[in-house]
Amino acid sequence: KGDPRLQGISNAIRVVPHFPKPGIMFQDITTLLLNHKAFKDAVDIFVDRYRHMNISVVAGVEARGFMFGPSIALAIGAKFVPLSKPGTLPDNAMMCVQNHFPSPYFGEQIGTVEKNRLLLDKSYSTVSKLPSEVISEDYVLEYGTDRLEMHVNAVLPGERALVFDDLVATGGTLSAAIRLLERAGAEVVECACVIGLPVVEEQCRLNGKPLYILVEPR
Ligand code: AMP
Repeated sequence: KGDPRLQGISNAIRVVPHFPKPGIMFQDITTLLLNHKAFKDAVDIFVDRYRHMNISVVAGVEARGFMFGPSIALAIGAKFVPLSKPGTLPDNAMMCVQNHFPSPYFGEQIGTVEKNRLLLDKSYSTVSKLPSEVISEDYVLEYGTDRLEMHVNAVLPGERALVFDDLVATGGTLSAAIRLLERAGAEVVECACVIGLPVVEEQCRLNGKPLYILVEPR
């Protein structure tokens, strides 16, 4: 933890107060991605940690887990699996219908077609962003719930997995990710985030799985 690269990584993260709502200090890793040295240092630290752990799959949480996960996966010789959040559509959203409905609902009545557009029924106000068959896990947020989805057969029983996201707050998202991977028969070796509080790193909320964090929120 005395790694001199960590200060540069921390400095490269932009803090945006009151985004996306009042009171939240949003930790913006897009400025870390703009800084080649800090971005490379972050990926290098994860790669050094995980290259000899026999990890065969890096599972990244949408969307900011997608920005680091593939680089780490390639460097450690693992595959990358996206864990997606369902797309949310406004009530009665109008969607262009070109020859097909969103695949999970193919063949089902999901709304009415008017002038070559689909008027979605209310119960279909979310759609999967993953095109093939998925398994999903719901989890509780401060207000409401969210869901992670993973393609079935993306992960095979017995695989050793690293779960990656940009930031851990309560650990709810990572816990749902762990449940998904374990349902697929994988062994979750560790969860890793760029940003998190040491107190979260120490407490075992993540179904007993270890958590590795680079820097604290700014
Ligand atoms: P949690 O499930 O409570 O651990 O929340 C972690 C998820 O919420 C991650 O996917 C983060 O990207 C996002 N998140 C929560 N708080 C922040 C924050 N202050 N800045 C940026 N992202 C956040």
